[in-house]
Amino acid sequence: MPELPEVQTVVSQLEQKIVGEQIQAVWSDWKKRIFPSFAVFAKQIRGARITGTRRYGKHIIIDLDNDYSIVAHLKMTGHFLVKNKTNRTAQAFTEDPVNGYIHHIITFTDGTTLEFSDMRKFGWLRTVKTDEVETLASIISLGIDALSTKFTEKYLRKALSGKKKQMIGVILLDQNIIAGIGNIYRSEALFLARMLPTRPLETLTKDEWPLLVPAIKKVLRQALKLRGMSDGDFRDTDGLEGRFQQTLYVYGRSDKPCKKCGTMIVRKKIGQRSVFYCPYCQK
Ligand SMILES: [Zn+2]
Repeated sequence: MPELPEVQTVVSQLEQKIVGEQIQAVWSDWKKRIFPSFAVFAKQIRGARITGTRRYGKHIIIDLDNDYSIVAHLKMTGHFLVKNKTNRTAQAFTEDPVNGYIHHIITFTDGTTLEFSDMRKFGWLRTVKTDEVETLASIISLGIDALSTKFTEKYLRKALSGKKKQMIGVILLDQNIIAGIGNIYRSEALFLARMLPTRPLETLTKDEWPLLVPAIKKVLRQALKLRGMSDGDFRDTDGLEGRFQQTLYVYGRSDKPCKKCGTMIVRKKIGQRSVFYCPYCQK
């Protein structure tokens, strides 16, 4: 499932590729994931020009020049592809099956298309008044963005002050505290911070606290640089896989040797999800 680096990769690429484009038409064969309804969505975007893109947590915002914005969520397998005259027949689009589940297409006046491929069909698109984007229920409840300058040790300590008994690995997934970290990046960040995911918060020492936020940011920035990771279905707007999976230390590597010390990586279920760690490097 796409996390912060994958979604930011899409937002940055869309900013370069579709700002200034004017919407001519919209098509869908899966209208029940378009809100408030396909007819209203189509009416509100047709003829509008794209002025910019932004991100809130894992929400992609495409702002229009008519006071509306398109809000999109990739959910499990959704991803946007941008096709134009030059790249429409690119191998990634025509031969990678993951890019072949196109359910929504926005066509621009110059013939470029913004296409949404989504095998599992949980992704969604909606229109919202631009000045109401931040009041959407799923956006208003988000905590501080993990890449924001406001995400600091001080913020984290304050936000977690009532949760001393909880496991650090569980806390990191709480989107109401930190927006954007999912299963992959929590395991990697805790490896870098050399902390076991099962540690209760209250056991973190004063030497360990300052390691946590920088480790999270380091992992996310590194992932961004590599266009995220494709643990299955994520593709960028060129239809290409991210490359972060090649640099993983622990996620998905159970029973393989730790890249730092050779100890076998352990997989453990905490909460509903698997977490991966090195029992030697992490204390
Ligand atoms: Zn190790």
